[in-house]
Amino acid sequence: MPRAGIVTFAGKPNAGKSTLLNRIIGQKLAIVSPKPQSTRDRVVGIHTEGDVQMVILDTPGLLNPKYALQRAMRATSLEALRDADVIVHVIDATEGAAEPLHVAAGLASPPSAPIITALNKADLLSAKQRADPNADGDRARLISAATGQGVAELVAAVAECLPESPFLYPEDEISTQHLRFFVSEMVRETALEQLSDEVPYSIACEIEEFRENKTPVYIRAVLHVERDSQKRILIGAKGQRIRSIGQAARVKVEALLEQPVYLDLWVKVLPNWRKNVNALARLGYQVQDGDGAGGEGKSR
Ligand code: GDP
Ligand code: MG
Repeated sequence: MPRAGIVTFAGKPNAGKSTLLNRIIGQKLAIVSPKPQSTRDRVVGIHTEGDVQMVILDTPGLLNPKYALQRAMRATSLEALRDADVIVHVIDATEGAAEPLHVAAGLASPPSAPIITALNKADLLSAKQRADPNADGDRARLISAATGQGVAELVAAVAECLPESPFLYPEDEISTQHLRFFVSEMVRETALEQLSDEVPYSIACEIEEFRENKTPVYIRAVLHVERDSQKRILIGAKGQRIRSIGQAARVKVEALLEQPVYLDLWVKVLPNWRKNVNALARLGYQVQDGDGAGGEGKSR
């Protein structure tokens, strides 16, 4: 009997969850950035090997929610914890002793799924630290998502915890998310790479048009910012910065689609979108009842 189930990656922002997902899936899916809070949505990767299938959820950082955006992120994370058959708690091993997941997540009790602790960034530890990881019990594993060290062993340990079940998705599928989503994440990631502090968290990317039946593929993307001053920064002198973001993003998107792409990139001001539930819903974020949107949350 094959095994299959949902594997949720949880942990603090910057612990390396997205890097680990990409390492396991072998293709760049989740946005990876040195700036925390860069994963806002629940990215699903599917890893099928032999008679085991893992449907992997990457969670946005578990934060103290302040804005509607952060509440939506946290709600998404908690939902992914509830849906999990196995939880991988990714911890930055260089940060020393870590709290148990339910404490870090502010939950009254531990989630019901088994938790495997992955102490990540082993490559940054000294030999002495590696020999003595402050692990919580025999399930903790030292890994490096960046080098791949210990990742195969972690995957094997996760597989052992999955229930016997037929596969949940076709074998050759790597993700249930639309290409649009990955394209928008790539454009946003590229903007984050080319900007310093201040602006990044105020950027959302919306794909307004995606015409695959043309060569080159035509994609119109809009980077939404909150203020005019941010728009000016993003565009740069004589439009130089936005051109450079557009070029770098196009190269990434072409690699993903394996086709030439015309990326038509715009910058617009959507005032205070991070605090505006209607704007959040429009941009594909899950908005909860408690945020005043009423009715069902929407997810991409
Ligand atoms: P997330 O917020 O948990 O999804 O973290 P990311 O995957 O976006 O990673 C945050 C930062 O840590 C990025 O700069 C990664 O390149 C870096 N990183 C992730 N895993 C490792 C690792 O194993 N070793 C090292 N040295 N850096 C890592
Ligand atoms: Mg991430």
